[in-house]
Amino acid sequence: MNAAVRIDPETGLKVFNTRAAKASEKITGKGYSVLADQKLKELPEMPAGATFNAEEQAKYRAFKEARRGAAHYMAMEGDFKKYLDDVYSEPPIPREALTDECEILVVGAGFGGLLLWHRLSEAGFTDVRFCEKGGDVGGTWYWNRYPGIACDVESYSYLPLLEEMGYVPSMKFASGFEILEYCQNMAQKFGFYDHCLFHTTVEATTWDEASGRWIVETDRGDKMRARFVILANGILTTPKLARIAGMEKFQGESFHTSRWNYNIDLRGKTVGIIGTGATAVQAVPELAKIVGRLYVFQRTPSSIDVRDQRATTDEERATWANQPGWARARRARFSKISAGRTAIQANDDYLAGKIQDIKKPRKYDRELTPEELTQKQLDSNFRIMEQIRARVDAIVKDPKTAAALKPYYPYGCKRPTFHDEYLPAFNLPHVHLVDTAPRGVGEINERGVVHEGVEYPLDVLIYATGFQWMGTSTFNMVTGRGGRTLKEKWETEGTKTFLGLHSHGFPNLFIVTGPQGGGGSFNFTDAIDAHSDYVVWMLQTMRKRGARIVDVRKEPEDAYAEHCRDVDIATAPLRDCISYYNGEGNAAPGSLAYYGGGKWHKHRVQAQSTLEPYVFEGGDPTV
Ligand SMILES: Cc1cc2nc3c(=O)[nH]c(=O)nc-3n(C[C@H](O)[C@H](O)[C@H](O)COP(=O)(O)OP(=O)(O)OC[C@H]3O[C@@H](n4cnc5c(N)ncnc54)[C@H](O)[C@@H]3O)c2cc1C
Repeated sequence: MNAAVRIDPETGLKVFNTRAAKASEKITGKGYSVLADQKLKELPEMPAGATFNAEEQAKYRAFKEARRGAAHYMAMEGDFKKYLDDVYSEPPIPREALTDECEILVVGAGFGGLLLWHRLSEAGFTDVRFCEKGGDVGGTWYWNRYPGIACDVESYSYLPLLEEMGYVPSMKFASGFEILEYCQNMAQKFGFYDHCLFHTTVEATTWDEASGRWIVETDRGDKMRARFVILANGILTTPKLARIAGMEKFQGESFHTSRWNYNIDLRGKTVGIIGTGATAVQAVPELAKIVGRLYVFQRTPSSIDVRDQRATTDEERATWANQPGWARARRARFSKISAGRTAIQANDDYLAGKIQDIKKPRKYDRELTPEELTQKQLDSNFRIMEQIRARVDAIVKDPKTAAALKPYYPYGCKRPTFHDEYLPAFNLPHVHLVDTAPRGVGEINERGVVHEGVEYPLDVLIYATGFQWMGTSTFNMVTGRGGRTLKEKWETEGTKTFLGLHSHGFPNLFIVTGPQGGGGSFNFTDAIDAHSDYVVWMLQTMRKRGARIVDVRKEPEDAYAEHCRDVDIATAPLRDCISYYNGEGNAAPGSLAYYGGGKWHKHRVQAQSTLEPYVFEGGDPTV
């Protein structure tokens, strides 16, 4: 057995062996059914003439206002800390605490960490160290292993480096288990495991002006120094719980969906699931296949769009085998279609390069004002939502249940979901929707959930209550120049970054896919790609100049943050609902959007060609 930490005699660098063994392989029902019934895979016709008129607008407003202030979430502390335990890996591999120095330290080993390593090592940066809270790679796909988990962006575009890996996903929407395995294979192939400290949570990252280094402290007693720190800690990694009176009293089994407890045998049990967001929409159909009775507690319905899951065809495999560059070209095409529903339901022929465009841009007799354009967008958005609502009526037999399952907000305002088995599940005699609109579940007792005086006794209670969006704790523990934390800066000045990647006063620090970081389409790994390329470009630029330190100037940062704010305000009518994307309706404009507007690339290219936003210290300023 190799030591957890050893020195590579050739490079003199430390090599790690800290990947934890698997804790459990009891997974049942991975869930990616391909349905034969065409009717379940279609949206009803777009209603002719349906417009977002005053009456419908009032309905949307009432739906939103009724939910304002209803969300009460809590961190997993005290009695609930156990919900954060890593249930997927054996205990951490023992190792010595590290107090040495590396050139680049990266927080996180999801797709962010993996893609960064691929790009950095290709560019010749090898003194790179990763710290990861979990026992293995995968990030999102390590932590989320609920039955039915799959990507929502087609896997041929979502999974990065498919050709370099020589891999073709088995399904159009690969299961999360396949994606996790893919991440593990990436780590093996690119030598990532040697560089990663698993079961290591970064607790503090502090800039030391005297040495021009970051000091990184972890829960394993490490106190490492690094010239550069890259936060690739994800934006949906910190699970949250709804705060419900009496929840600590429940005597049955309970867990959060992002720590699925496969040691609990759910077969034949009475199970309750709280929350009906993207996770529950994927998990409910699988739960319905095995449990005795299922109660789904809903505050706000999701929009349930068509999934149309299918296996990768032999023809596709054969074509791609003879088409070098197919995956990169497909990802590039996917990134071009950024408009709401089209992006996700992207036409296969377009993505395969068989047709040149998805649809022709509409021509109007005269140039429309921004308000008129927004109204046009709202009208077509409304018609899509009418189809989504009509689909509920077409599938769900009980009219009361169907009525409760219909969402009234603009498409894409809450995270859109896609499934062909979710709505039919509510026709099963043992599956019950408990409509807790608009305020949510009010009470939990020893036996189960109580709502409006009715008790629902449960064997198992599952919290599908989501994540703190952009709330990853790493942002809160970074102390920059002058002893100021990133959290303090953003709380007093509002979220301020340049390109989402730098923040003034935090030199040699990069944030990947954080607030205001655009660059991608709906495909998250595309943004990670763009950010990784940017980081490598900056490190190479510094290497060429011999620069030790880079920071951004305040003015370009202010201007960029203002741009994110303006874009957010201009497009606000299309996101007029209560959602985690907008901090349950409380977030300041521009503060949470990871996309930050469509001009991210323009800002990036300008910065890279002029170098104007940056302050470099050391080296030759003329290079
Ligand atoms: C259920 C689910 C489904 C999704 N489906 C899609 C999809 O279909 N398409 C899409 O584009 N996106 C999807 N996403 C978004 C998804 O998060 C991204 O696509 C992508 O996986 C993010 O990769 P990442 O490396 O940036 O972050 P993550 O995958 O979140 O990885 C970050 C890692 O950082 C670690 N970490 C955090 N803080 C610390 C710390 N202090 N110390 C040490 N380690 C730390 C975490 O443990 C985690 O492993 C989905 C997200 C979820 C939750």
